[in-house]
Amino acid sequence: MGRLRGLCLVPFGFLLFFSSAFIGVPGALAWSKEGHVITCQIAQALLEPEALEAVHHLLPDYVNGNLSALCVWPDQIRHWFRYRWTSPLHFIDTPDNACSFQYSRDCHDSHGVEDMCVAGAVKNFTSQLMHYKEGASDQRYNMTEALLFLSHFMGDIHQPMHVGFTTDEGGNTIELRWFRHKSNLHHVWDREIILTALADYYDKDASLLLQDIERNYTDGIWADDSSWKHCDDIPQCVNNWAKESIQIACKWGYEGVKPGTTLADDYFDSRMPFVMKRIAQGGIRLAMILNKVFADSEEGSATVT
Ligand SMILES: [Zn+2]
Repeated sequence: MGRLRGLCLVPFGFLLFFSSAFIGVPGALAWSKEGHVITCQIAQALLEPEALEAVHHLLPDYVNGNLSALCVWPDQIRHWFRYRWTSPLHFIDTPDNACSFQYSRDCHDSHGVEDMCVAGAVKNFTSQLMHYKEGASDQRYNMTEALLFLSHFMGDIHQPMHVGFTTDEGGNTIELRWFRHKSNLHHVWDREIILTALADYYDKDASLLLQDIERNYTDGIWADDSSWKHCDDIPQCVNNWAKESIQIACKWGYEGVKPGTTLADDYFDSRMPFVMKRIAQGGIRLAMILNKVFADSEEGSATVT
C-alpha cells in the first residue's frame, strides 16, 4: 500500500491538468463509458447528505456536481506518461483456470509490484479518502483524484472479465464475433452486451436502462439483496468482490467460448442479467464506501486544495 500511496502524490497543478485531460479525449477501455456512467449515477443517487456535499466539493465546477461525468476519466489518462503507473490498477490477472482470487498471490503488476491491481487500488483510494475530514491540513493526497479513481475502479472490479486469466489478458486476446462484427471476449463484457441491451430494449436511451436497474433493487428482483449495502471490513469486502468477479468470469464469461466463435442471442440473453447486476452492485457498494468515508466529517465541508 505504501508504495502505491506514494505514487499518488500529485498535489499541485492537478485541476488545470485535469480539465484539459477531460475535454475531447475519445475512447474508453474497461466497463464501457455507459457501464461506468451508470455505476456512478446509481452511486450518486444513494449518497447521504454529507457524502453528497463532499463529492460536490471535490468535483471540478464544470461538471456541476455530476460524478458520472468524470467516472471514465481514469481510462482516458491511463496511457499518459504522468499516469502510466495507474494502468495495472484497472484489472487483476489470476492464474489460468484457477477461478479464484487471492490477494497475496494475484494483486501485483506484471513486474511483481505488490498492491498494483484493481483490488489494491480500491483499498488504497478508500483509505486516502478517509483523510478527507482532515481537510487542508493534510496535503499528502489529492482527494479529487482519489474520488475519481475509486469511483472508476469500483466499476472495474465488478466487471467479471476484469478479474480474468493471465494468458488471455482477461479475454482480450480471445477474438470472436459479436453477432456480425469482430470483437473479443473482454470487450463483449465491457461494452457489447450493454450496447446490445440498449439497442434492443431501451431505445438506445441509457437513462431508461438506469431506471430499470434502479427499479430492480428498490422493489424488483434484487430488493431483498440488502447485503450489497453492508460491509464491516472494507479490505475483506474488496477481496470478496474480486472473487465474485472471477467466479462469474469462469462460469459465464469463459464458459463455452472458443477463439473464433460467434456469440449471439443465447450468450446475450443468459449473460445480460449478470452485467446489469454487477453494474448495480458496483454502484450500490460505491455509495456505501463514500457514505462511510465522508460520514461524520468533523469540519463539514472540509477544504482540500
Ligand atoms: Zn478501467
